[in-house]
Amino acid sequence: MNDEELKKAIDFYRSLVQKEIASEKIVGGKRIGPRTLTKKDHVDLKDIISPERPFLGKEASSDIDSLYVTTFRVGNLKKPISLAKAGYGTDVVAGIELGANLVKAGLIKNVDEITDFLAKYKIGILDIFKEEEMENGKKLDLRVYECIECAGLPNIGEPVCYFETGMIIGILRELTHKEVSAEEIRCWTSGYSFCHFDVEIKD
Ligand SMILES: [Zn+2]
Repeated sequence: MNDEELKKAIDFYRSLVQKEIASEKIVGGKRIGPRTLTKKDHVDLKDIISPERPFLGKEASSDIDSLYVTTFRVGNLKKPISLAKAGYGTDVVAGIELGANLVKAGLIKNVDEITDFLAKYKIGILDIFKEEEMENGKKLDLRVYECIECAGLPNIGEPVCYFETGMIIGILRELTHKEVSAEEIRCWTSGYSFCHFDVEIKD
């Protein structure tokens, strides 16, 4: 994906994000986006095979993109339902380890290269939307569009991108050598068309 295409995608999703946040609701203390809430509390195999990735899927054709995404999801999301909830911590730790290793291996050398890497391997389109200085560090507003984990999944009432949350922590921790925390506050599976992360980098 070249810079022009990346910019086009980010512009497209920024306006969608604005509309969706404007129409979100708080249900049981959780943010829920405008997509219809399903009665399910998990995703099924048939949900994971139809990613919605008009930008990342374009070069490869949607058939190939669907195969690529499904292969990832079968490995990453197909856990026994009984274990899935308890497994979230493992996913975060696995993501942290991968993220840190990407930096150690020299595949990501600075913050700008995170966006390039994630687009190249079609993990998602990273938008570093806002950076705010705090008294004891920095706050980042990060969005990921067309996420390999969740783009196209139904609204089950809560976010599921724990692996990507971990990757963000691991990459930023290794790049900055500071304490980093991240939380996914909006996701396809909580009714939106993007993933939204609150990130803090503490001095
Ligand atoms: Zn997500």
